[in-house]
Amino acid sequence: MRIDVATLFPEMCEAVLSESILGRARKNGALTVQCWNIRDYTLDKHRRVDDVPYGGGRGMVMQADPIYRCYEAVQAEAGTQPHRIYLSPKGSVLTQQRALELAAMPHLFLLCGHYEGVDQRILDTIIDEEISIGDYVLTGGELPAMVLIDTVARMLPGVLPESLCFEDESHFNGLLEYPQYTRPAVWHGQEVPPVLLTGHHKNIAEWRLAQSLEVTKTHRPDLYDCYLDKK
Ligand code: SAM
Repeated sequence: MRIDVATLFPEMCEAVLSESILGRARKNGALTVQCWNIRDYTLDKHRRVDDVPYGGGRGMVMQADPIYRCYEAVQAEAGTQPHRIYLSPKGSVLTQQRALELAAMPHLFLLCGHYEGVDQRILDTIIDEEISIGDYVLTGGELPAMVLIDTVARMLPGVLPESLCFEDESHFNGLLEYPQYTRPAVWHGQEVPPVLLTGHHKNIAEWRLAQSLEVTKTHRPDLYDCYLDKK
């Protein structure tokens, strides 16, 4: 998969994208990510990319033209039409299901806003979808873009050792994960649930499912009801 990120702060993105599992996925070719500095595409001699909002009010708005020219450069280099996403608190909230659908796409273009956001006309011209990472406001779209890339990338072939690594986790099947334990078997007087020490795979799977149901019911009754509805 190829992902192009249009941002005013490419170094902020690179810092996240070059570490850990994402960094390895880029090195082994499972994921190609390129960050584009929108400021490189302004025609303004002072490299300005924002201006005051029409109608008055606080803050600055990112201008349409540098973003458009940046997007044209992405398209010219990639030679394909990406699925184009604007990270925005006004978008649909990202879910595991949507991330799975995005992971099946060959090419994504992510636009990160800053300040008061971007000129509406660029959204009307080049954006297919607005995605939010939650009902709160951040200073910029860079962290949301990194969140989206992280969750999409871990479902790509060759990024995690096997698909069970993400299929067996919270949200994949609509439930939250069961509790996890590791050595030692007794810590500060607290014992690991005995069934986990038996090596009996069927009993362990049953215990884990029961725990998943219980954790979902208590932590997220909304998800639990949804899970029961779908059953
Ligand atoms: N004025 C905008 C509003 O009230 O909807 C908020 C602008 S915010 C300060 C600046 C940028 O951060 C946005 O353009 C967007 O790209 C990004 N952003 C902020 N919160 C976000 C969220 N919850 N999800 C995705 N992107 C977000």
